[in-house]
Amino acid sequence: MNYYPDSIIKLINSLSTLPGVGRKTAERLALHILHAPMHEAEAIASDILELRKKVKLCARCFALSDTEYCQICSNVNRDSSVICVVENPADMAAIEKSGAFNGIYHILGGALSPMDGIGPDEIRIRELFARVRAKGPREVIIATGTDVEGEATASYISDNLKRTGITVSRIASGVPMGGDLQYVDQVTMQRAMEGRRGF
Ligand SMILES: [Zn+2]
Repeated sequence: MNYYPDSIIKLINSLSTLPGVGRKTAERLALHILHAPMHEAEAIASDILELRKKVKLCARCFALSDTEYCQICSNVNRDSSVICVVENPADMAAIEKSGAFNGIYHILGGALSPMDGIGPDEIRIRELFARVRAKGPREVIIATGTDVEGEATASYISDNLKRTGITVSRIASGVPMGGDLQYVDQVTMQRAMEGRRGF
């Protein structure tokens, strides 16, 4: 690709390390950035740096946040007596888009997968139990994936929480088996949340 100057080739190489971006797309993006107004190019560069410097995990629910507590945890209109447990921030975003949930979250940071060496200590299950013990929520809704790992994680959590006497439910109806929550459409997600069942 030596028909481009080195600085363009460098950016193409960087962009093509991003997921879903092949060399052709990277080339198109690099040329777009080159021809875009200077302030747009600067905004892209500074937004990436700001993201990396500022975004951390919410001290309570482990959602991505610019502040110590995320927007949801800091919102007094959210019902903090209902905790929805998800695997990752994208799953939380999918539930938020559906508008079907007004409680707060707990982001595990993955799912149990003994085959891959991921046990309860590798994800934030201990933190969830500590939260539940400390705050005694009314209900814990488990919204992990419907694949084997997601189901195993849901069972593990519910088995441990049952003793506490707290209502534990699982979103189910409508979410396809083996499905990743983040790809579920809004209407399906609303139905899944409304149709949750007790364990
Ligand atoms: Zn939070």
